[in-house]
Amino acid sequence: MTPFNRNFGQGKRTKAVRPDMNWEEITKAGNVYEPGNANTYETGDWRTIRPVWNKDRCIHCLICWRYCPDASIIATDGKFDSFDYKHCKGCGICANVCPVHAIDMFSEDEMDRQKEAKRNEE
Ligand code: SF4
Ligand code: SF4
Repeated sequence: MTPFNRNFGQGKRTKAVRPDMNWEEITKAGNVYEPGNANTYETGDWRTIRPVWNKDRCIHCLICWRYCPDASIIATDGKFDSFDYKHCKGCGICANVCPVHAIDMFSEDEMDRQKEAKRNEE
């Protein structure tokens, strides 16, 4: 008899998902079975607003580091270091919890327009 959950995948390694994969190669319901797999996906791709750190205001309390749901704040030697923009989804929690307002949120579109304008000036 075929077990109902045969394709549940315990103990099975999944392949990395590629754009050219057909539906038969993808696991049932798109389940992923390896821990830590989020590291291999650039989940920051769909961000529409970007956190920007202001080093003059930061007191390195690392409250933002504790609250970031995507582990996208990198701390080095107990101090704020940088954002991991490949995984930051732009939720703005870090900016909301920062006690000294050292993180500002900017529109990605606006930042792109400003970069483009700067390039055109040069
Ligand atoms: S919460 Fe604000 S002050 Fe604290 S480390 Fe993060 S950016 Fe710096
Ligand atoms: S915007 Fe959200 S995901 Fe990005 S660093 Fe801040 S808390 Fe983390």
